[in-house]
Order: sequence, then C-alpha cells, then structure tokens
Amino acid sequence: MDVRRRPSKALRPAPKEPSSAPEPTGAKASDALPLPLYFTNALFFTLFFSVAYYLLLRWRDKIRNSVPLHVVTFSELAAILSLIASFIYLLGFFGIDFVQSFIARASNEAWDLVDEEEGEDHRHRLMACSPSIADHIIPAVSSAEDEEIVDLVVKGTIPSYALEEQLGDCQRAVRIRREALQRITRRSLQGLPLDGFDYGSILKQCCEMPVGYVQIPVGIAGPLLLDSFEYIVPMATTEGCIVASTNRGFKGIYASGGATSTILRDGMTRAPVVRFPSASRACHLKFFLDNPSNFQTLADEFNKSSNFARLQGVQCSIAGKNLYMRFSCTTGDAMGMNMVSKGVENVLAYLRNEYPDMDIISISGNFCSDKKPAAINWIEGRGKSAVCEVVIKEEVLKKVFRTSVATLVELNMLKNLAGSAVAGALGGFNAHASNIVSAIFIATGQDPAQNVESSHCITMMEAVNDGKDLHISVTMPSIEVGTIGGGTQLASQSACLDLLGVKGASKELPGANSRLLAKIVAGSVLAGELSLMAAIASGQLVESHMKYNRSTKDVSKVGS
Ligand code: ADP
Repeated sequence: MDVRRRPSKALRPAPKEPSSAPEPTGAKASDALPLPLYFTNALFFTLFFSVAYYLLLRWRDKIRNSVPLHVVTFSELAAILSLIASFIYLLGFFGIDFVQSFIARASNEAWDLVDEEEGEDHRHRLMACSPSIADHIIPAVSSAEDEEIVDLVVKGTIPSYALEEQLGDCQRAVRIRREALQRITRRSLQGLPLDGFDYGSILKQCCEMPVGYVQIPVGIAGPLLLDSFEYIVPMATTEGCIVASTNRGFKGIYASGGATSTILRDGMTRAPVVRFPSASRACHLKFFLDNPSNFQTLADEFNKSSNFARLQGVQCSIAGKNLYMRFSCTTGDAMGMNMVSKGVENVLAYLRNEYPDMDIISISGNFCSDKKPAAINWIEGRGKSAVCEVVIKEEVLKKVFRTSVATLVELNMLKNLAGSAVAGALGGFNAHASNIVSAIFIATGQDPAQNVESSHCITMMEAVNDGKDLHISVTMPSIEVGTIGGGTQLASQSACLDLLGVKGASKELPGANSRLLAKIVAGSVLAGELSLMAAIASGQLVESHMKYNRSTKDVSKVGS
C-alpha cells in the first residue's frame, strides 16, 4: 500500500456502528447513562413513540369531549416531558452525525481529488484542489488545542498526513495522529512507544504518517577479525541464537588468525524498459548501446547529475519490441538507488532525441533487479560482490565448534549444495545468510527489503592442510549497502555504523566505507555459517534453540 498517496481510509471518520464501547467524540446524552448504547437507544426510541401515541390518543379524546387542549392532567404532562426528553436525546445522537456527515463528505471529496494527482506535496495539491477547505483549515490548526485538532482529524476535516506540515511540529503531529487513530479504531497503541524518537529526522525521507516506533533489540557480536582489523558487529534481531551463534563463529575465526575478504565488483543497477514499433528498432538501440565507441557519450550524460555516480556499463536484453537496458554504476558510499535512477533518466532523455520512436515504459523494468529474487543479481552481481574466507584450525574446530573437518565438509555438500540444488534454490546455497544480513541491515539503517538479493550466498567448505583444517568461504554477489543516505542517517542506525567505524561518507576515498560495510556483512555471514553448520553437525541445534529462543515467561501475561 502506498501510504503517501492518500490519507488512509482508516483515518477517515469510521462509520457509526452500534457498540458498547465509549463514543470517541462529542458529549451525547448516552454518555451520561451507565448503560450499553444499544439499550439506551432502544429505550428512548420506545419512549418517544409510545408517549407520542399516548398523546395523540389523548388529543383525539379531548376534541371529541370538547375539553380545552391546554388543560392537562399529570400523566399528560409527564408524557409531554418524556416526549421532549427523548426527542432531544435522539436529535443529539443521530441529528448531529447527520449534519457532520455533510462536512466529512465535503472533505473526503477533496481527498479523492488529491488522490488522482501525482507528486510529492500533498498539502499544496489539497490547496489546489479545494482552496476553500485548505484556507479554512490551516490558520485554525496552528492555534487550536490538541484536543480540537484530534477531533478534526477524526472527522476527516484535517488529513492525517498533513499534520506535520500544518502544525510545524513533528512530535505534536505524531501525538495527535496517534490519538486520532486510537479513537477511530477504538484500539489502544499502548505498547507502541511514542516518546524518545526524533520524528523530524524521518520527515519526507524515511516514513510517512508515523504513530510511534517499533523497538528491536540490538546485540553485539565480536570481535570479528577481518583483514587484520577488529570489528564489534551490531545486530538488530528478535530471534534468539542469532547473535550468540555469530559470536561463536567470530571466536573461531579469531582463534584461527582471522578472515580475509575481497570486494570483487561494486556497481548499483537500474534497468528501464523501452518499447519500439518493431523488434528491429529495439535491436538497433541495443547495438548502439553495445558499441564501445558510444560509451563515453552515454557516460557523460549519465554522470552529470551526481559527483559519485559513474557509469560502468550497460547490459541489454530484448523481448520482442521491448528493450531492457541494465545500467550499472559506482555510487560512492551511498547504496545508490537514487543516484542510478537519476543517471538513467539523463540517458533516457538523451536517447529520446536520437530515437524519437522510443516509448519509455518504465524507469525500472525489473531487469535491475531490485528486491526480488532474480538470477541476474546472482550471476552478474548488484551492489557489492564480496568473497570472504578463513582456514579454521583442527583444534579450534574441536574446542570451539565441537565437530570435525570431515563432518562439516560432508554436511555442507549435502545441505548447502546438493540440498539447495534439489530445492531449485536461487542464490540460496547457504545455511542462514539472511539471518545475519537482516540483523546487520536493520541495525545499520540499510533497506531491509534488499535482504532478498543481499542474502544470496554460496558457502563452500573443503579440507586443507592434509585434511586437518577446514577452508570455509562465503561468496555473496549482491550485497546492497550504503553508509550515507536513507535510514543510515537516523540516530540509532548512525550509532551502529559508528561502532563499526563506517559512519557517513569516507573522506579519503568515496565508497571505502560502504565497501568495508559489505566486507563486514560477508565476514559476519561467514561466522554465522560456520557456527550454525557446526551446531547442526554436532547435534546442538535444537538444544541451543531451546536455550536461547524459548522464553520461560508466560507470554500471555507480558504487557498486560
Ligand atoms: P541513494 O542513492 O543510496 O538513495 P541518497 O541519494 O539518499 O542515496 O544519498 C546520497 C547523497 O549523499 C547524494 O546526494 C550524494 O551526493 C551525497 N554524498 C555525499 N558524499 C557521498 C559519498 N561519499 N558517496 C555517496 N554519496 C555521497
């Protein structure tokens, strides 16, 4: 769901339904009665119609008997008062909502107009669509009390998504949105923290319509001895065993003299799809792009929107009249999706002049391929391609991992290689790379959705040094990481990057920080593979999961 595009329908006024829950807004007669709502409604309905019937009968009798109408008995007086009381109740309950529904409908029509438009600035679009509503809302909001604003959000008069902009105070906007949400849904967000987060830091960058934040514990594993440097690795996870297991892997790597890593490729990709009137025209452009003598022209166009994006190459694939062009570029320390997309737009604008019959279908034609399992990333790489290796000594295998070389080599062959082949795996020739990748990604502000391709990994094991020691390696062709941009700038994530010494842009060599982070991810995966495989080999897996992953607390009582 693209939450930026419209104020969630859930945040519009909920249709009224009979309920025993307290009414969210407005003081009504029913609020004063300690009775269920349906009961008081039924009571007043019955009262209204029965006294009305009674008074009509009395009226008829008086006319027949020529008794003046203003001469009333005690029971008639009581009936008149009951009629008035029940009328006021029913008007208060149903009449006000009837009027409010007109106001809500007017504002909802404004949203629907807003939704039909494309673009970033919703408030301006609202003003363009319905200046009278926007003009009315904005000055009122900045001076109103929180309670009044909550009311307006509940009624749908103020769009929930526009609160930050209209109030100019992110913290207050979140508090109000959250309160309105609770009233509309009649559900408590008590367990979801509100305070202790800088909502200004995520505005227009990381998350729209925040109502709080989810807490994920961060554990540390290490030191990882990698290329002669030591790193303490932060891991954000709620799965027991992951940190402990990686830590054990680090211990074994350390005791064996450390791991070695290499970045063998570094390039982020974006692949637009364009359509031509014929397949031969699509091929014409493919040949143009394949021709090395045209590369510099393309690179000049591509590189002009960034100091860091540098075109490396274009790989083409044809499907009938459609051409898919996979642009690859270096991106400095950024993960690079924005940069590569801007560069591709420059090239497309240039190509449009040269090929006027070219129809640009999409900036991304999925040949990229982002956040989806795809063989192209596994084979060609995306982001950083890394390989990391270590030789684990025989005595370390025995002491730390309680297993042997032969057992691990055989297990790796049967599980990670043959087993994954039997399963038809795509990049999944490993035991649990994604556990480690996800935990480091979340801790360091990477895009967790890119865990899909970033966890592609083949784990190899073989006996070396006359069969005494174990050579283990992980090869990961598409680790997509950055140390600047996106979620990396948020306080918590930034602290975790700092712990690793890779925070922000590298001053000496652009790209050095993000490449080092990719190496650390690979080194951590190496440790995770070693430890889990050893646990399986020595039959410890279930035992350790029972120890770390099974809470002894009665979870039904937690949080109550
Ligand atoms: P992404 O392309 O990963 O989405 P962003 O565009 O959000 O990243 O952030 C990258 C921004 O940081 C760019 O504006 C870029 O010019 C700037 N920047 C500064 N130093 C560097 C660096 N060393 N590497 C990459 N980008 C850098």
